[in-house]
Amino acid sequence: MIIEKIAESRFNDSVFESTVFGKEFSDHMLIAHYKDGKWGEATIKPYGPITMTPAAMSFHYGQTIFEGMKAYKNENDDVFIFRPEKNFERFNLSAARLNMPQIPKEIFIDGLKAIVDIDRKWVPQDYGTSLYIRPVMFATEEAVSARSSNEYIFAILLAYAPSYYEKPLSVKIADFYSRAAQGGVGFAKCGGNYAASFFPASEVQKEGYDQIIWTDSIEHKYIEEAGTMNVMVRIGNKLLTAPTSERILNGVTRDSVLTLAKDAGNDLEIRPVEVKELYDAYKSGELKEVFGCGTAVVITQYDTIGFGDERVQLPHLAEEDSFALNLKKKLKDIQYGLVEDPHGWRVKI
Ligand code: PMP
Repeated sequence: MIIEKIAESRFNDSVFESTVFGKEFSDHMLIAHYKDGKWGEATIKPYGPITMTPAAMSFHYGQTIFEGMKAYKNENDDVFIFRPEKNFERFNLSAARLNMPQIPKEIFIDGLKAIVDIDRKWVPQDYGTSLYIRPVMFATEEAVSARSSNEYIFAILLAYAPSYYEKPLSVKIADFYSRAAQGGVGFAKCGGNYAASFFPASEVQKEGYDQIIWTDSIEHKYIEEAGTMNVMVRIGNKLLTAPTSERILNGVTRDSVLTLAKDAGNDLEIRPVEVKELYDAYKSGELKEVFGCGTAVVITQYDTIGFGDERVQLPHLAEEDSFALNLKKKLKDIQYGLVEDPHGWRVKI
């Protein structure tokens, strides 16, 4: 790995006053080029623009994939990243599905550790804040020809992630648009999945919702994901979530939350969850909680659910009675290095 450090750091404490996610980039970025069937040596260098031709194939055919993870700091200035191997594996699954080259561990994992270490002063310390880590790969070959590119850039960027005011959100259950199709790319973290979701999301926002809970693309019968989150449902004292599939991203938070719920002896069911089952449970008073899990906010509660034209309101639970809030605290305490790490999820930098 080649390291070219910035002459003078751009860091100052006002970075941590930002309230915007992912806009304050750290001093450095990692860049590696793929050409002639192989990856060149990765370089960590000052963060800044790169030059690309408008004929770069990612702009036309959308071969672009990414990952999202975070670095956390505790009171002793220890910096941790959370289960990076999972993101590494998922990145390469995405790469395979988009017909892009596999990234070697020495670039992804070693690069990640090196750049977070170099920019460790950019990792904030306040509970709830973190440094967001964005690995990304995109096609760079100069050609307007509909085939996969022969050249790529892999990059790792770091940006400040503030703590959110975490109010529960309102979500509409999708009954027309779909996010992912069977045999498609739903399980991959590719740019097109997100691009295609923005218009349907803007439509429900006009109706006053924050997000969509996606359903299966065939019958809109089963719930799948929401925004950039996997969805969990609590009916009575049972926690339900859809199995991951070709259409659903295999979330690291989802897996961690399920593990913690299992550790706590919660009653879990991993199976397709019908929209009708949710609605019926609401009617009978058994629908206690619906929440999303993902790296950005860990867990987000949904308190308003739109079933077609009907908007239902879930009861407000006290913090100690909420599965969502309990699981969220447990997971965050592990991520921030405040408690034991029974599953060996933290990687110290
Ligand atoms: N689903 C989608 C579509 C996502 O973009 C994300 C965010 N990566 C998730 C679920 C949650 O995954 P994770 O817990 O690994 O962040």
